[in-house]
Amino acid sequence: MKAGERILVVGAGLSGAVIGRELAQAGCKVEIVDSRGHIGGNCHTERDAATGVMVHVYGPHVFHTDDAEVWSYVNGFGTFLPYRNRVKTTVGGQVYSLPVNLHTINQFFGRSLRPDEARAFIEEQADRTISDPRTFEEQALRFVGRALYEAFFKGYTQKQWGCSPTELPASILKRLPVRFNYDDNYFFHAYQGIPKDGYSAMVARILDHPDITVTLGTDFRRGQGTGFAHIFHSGPLDGYFDYARGRLGYRTLDFERFTHDGDYQGCAVMNYGDLAVPHTRITEHKHFAPWEEHAGSVCYREFSRACEPGDIPYYPIRLVEEKAQLAEYVALAQMERGVTFVGRLGTYRYLDMDVTIREALDTARLFLDRRAAEAAMPSFLKPPL
Ligand SMILES: Cc1cc2nc3c(=O)[nH]c(=O)nc-3n(C[C@H](O)[C@H](O)[C@H](O)COP(=O)(O)OP(=O)(O)OC[C@H]3O[C@@H](n4cnc5c(N)ncnc54)[C@H](O)[C@@H]3O)c2cc1C
Repeated sequence: MKAGERILVVGAGLSGAVIGRELAQAGCKVEIVDSRGHIGGNCHTERDAATGVMVHVYGPHVFHTDDAEVWSYVNGFGTFLPYRNRVKTTVGGQVYSLPVNLHTINQFFGRSLRPDEARAFIEEQADRTISDPRTFEEQALRFVGRALYEAFFKGYTQKQWGCSPTELPASILKRLPVRFNYDDNYFFHAYQGIPKDGYSAMVARILDHPDITVTLGTDFRRGQGTGFAHIFHSGPLDGYFDYARGRLGYRTLDFERFTHDGDYQGCAVMNYGDLAVPHTRITEHKHFAPWEEHAGSVCYREFSRACEPGDIPYYPIRLVEEKAQLAEYVALAQMERGVTFVGRLGTYRYLDMDVTIREALDTARLFLDRRAAEAAMPSFLKPPL
């Protein structure tokens, strides 16, 4: 690699920031552009001026990982405080614990079963006539039976995906979605937390390097990256090619923000499983920072719908149709020289933050190795299909 080589990074989210930092540390001059007016991408946090609450602007983010190197990396740029994600759900006028656990089962069926009894009870509920489940609904019925499926999976899934669980593949529900103990921690990972002063402050520290410049409010278009030794693109893959093969399907979210004096719901996340309730959940942001105290509160009522042009793409749909279209974009990307597509939008995959950082670190390392060997950098770190 030539010293001082100029690298363009599109997007100042976690992917762009981590790649930029690694390459700047290795001696590159890194220029990062982002179309938004802030850094941090979808993890962006900002303090609400009126209440002082740290708001997760694009929806709540809890950091969880088993990757010790990634955990050490993020702790190098921010102080993480312990946070356990404990989610509740309101169904039929009652509040239950999630993920479905022994407490949920006992509450829902009005029982006081012990673990083995609950396991046997759920096996009785399960629909064993379904031997080869093809749809989400069949899979759920086979695992937990109709009563639990209708209360805790059907309505929420339908609202989230905008279609009936009979139209979704069984693969979405890979394993038994029930715990036979009272563990209500949403994640199993060894390391879990939230940065004390928010994700954007952490990303600002990652970007704080003399060889990184960040230009906000700048939309990158294909063909604008002349003069750079390489481009890392964390914007949408289909957008890069001007949607030449159509738009890849995403779900978008609408957040109806409201404030409240005091404590609105007593927890960070309350799901709503009933179809009659149009929103999927309400998040109350001050509960994501239990180390802070605020009299006021900021909440988001969250609605899911199909992503239209101009909306923020949140969740890639990745069903059969989208995968065929994705294959066409992957073929186009592989013909492009000097560009590597990264991150959740560049590879059209749902990626948690820890996976995003792991892939960003590996991408930067691969780039440095390939440059040293004077070998070409691939379009993707991993095949997106
Ligand atoms: C609702 C929701 C909740 C989530 N909660 C969690 C959670 O609790 N825990 C967890 O681990 N993960 C969570 N995630 C995943 C997390 O958001 C991602 O891992 C992370 O945002 C990926 O970072 P990224 O840099 O790849 O993408 P992004 O954050 O989307 O960054 C891409 C950036 O590129 C910019 N950009 C795009 N196109 C262009 C262009 N043409 N020109 C210039 N700039 C451009 C965008 O403005 C954006 O800032 C959640 C995701 C969603 C949708």
